[in-house]
Amino acid sequence: MSEVSLKNIRKVYPNGFQAVKDFNLDVKDGEFVIFVGPSGCGKSTTMRMIAGLEDITEGDLIIDGNRVNDVEPKDRDIAMVFQNYALYPHMTVKENMEFPLKIRKMPQDEIDRRVAQAAKTLDLEKLLDRKPKALSGGQRQRVAMGRAIVRDPKVLLLDEPLSNLDAKLRGQMRVEISRLHERLGATMIYVTHDQTEAMTLGDRIVVMSDGEVQQIDTPQYLYDHPANKFVAGFIGSPQMNFLDGTVTEKNGKVAVRVGDTDIAIDPAKGKVLKDGGYMGKEVTIGVRPEYLYDTPEHLELYKDSKAKAKVAVRENLGAEIYLYTDFNGAQLTARVDPESKTQVGDEVELSFNPARIHVFDIETGRAIG
Ligand code: ATP
Repeated sequence: MSEVSLKNIRKVYPNGFQAVKDFNLDVKDGEFVIFVGPSGCGKSTTMRMIAGLEDITEGDLIIDGNRVNDVEPKDRDIAMVFQNYALYPHMTVKENMEFPLKIRKMPQDEIDRRVAQAAKTLDLEKLLDRKPKALSGGQRQRVAMGRAIVRDPKVLLLDEPLSNLDAKLRGQMRVEISRLHERLGATMIYVTHDQTEAMTLGDRIVVMSDGEVQQIDTPQYLYDHPANKFVAGFIGSPQMNFLDGTVTEKNGKVAVRVGDTDIAIDPAKGKVLKDGGYMGKEVTIGVRPEYLYDTPEHLELYKDSKAKAKVAVRENLGAEIYLYTDFNGAQLTARVDPESKTQVGDEVELSFNPARIHVFDIETGRAIG
């Protein structure tokens, strides 16, 4: 059992800066939770409070039912993997991995067994006698992970562990970390500012901004049901398109008028807008690039939700094409079929999937409906 609960956790640094505001989270045994958010939003501070490397100003940190706010880091049974790996350069891979067990005075035969097991798990068996400087970035990363898992900690914390690797290696290590989590079944908390890592790795994602939790949900739920405009814009790449407009009516349907274009939205959401007193008011609508279409079938299917835009950039990625278009002074990005013949400079009609249009309160940014 390795549950971690943060209850109303707050961090104020000695200079008075409030880096984390009222953080609440229950991490289940064996769960893989990701903290994601832009630089400076308080991810590392929260992680360091869990590890015991930073004092908790207010609130309770509970591990397996015990309040551990005042427990020394070494007594929390937590291992942490840092961004810079922090390997000892004068020690071999084997010695680096043995180190945390030796300082705990574990018998040598048990140390040998655990290091051999971790080396097998992380494919480090052939590298055990090398020094860190004779390893690639990805191999160093695996040694840092090995040194963390030999202790068989209750909780494994990873702070941007892949940020020093190139894009290809990051992709490979993402898969390895997922496999490692499955094999170990350990409770893991992982900090990143990379939304792709967050989407692909976590059971649940905690999205943070300015020291505040914005939303906690599964990757798919966050993607489909962002709680506010910040989360909607942060999760997903290329990011969601946003347009400001006025709530109106078109052919008996609730629509949002952007410039002189009316974009009808889903009837269920329309009802929420009506009931919420939004008729005639300004809102922001959001739609992801994959829910905009340029094919005749879609233009007919969603004929009440169309916009005329001008193609500024056409990006062909092989399996898909992104059209970056200008519409009413805003950019609309559409992911279209690789067969699409639309070219730069073309005036193109794009239809929106009305069921996939998000509506946000223009003042609070909160999702409506
Ligand atoms: P990054 O992705 O850049 O590492 P982060 O989300 O992990 O960012 P933190 O390192 O947790 O952010 O920092 C949160 C905020 O607290 C930042 O504004 C940072 O400048 C501030 N901060 C961090 N350490 C201290 C400190 N010792 N004293 C005062 N403010 C600090």
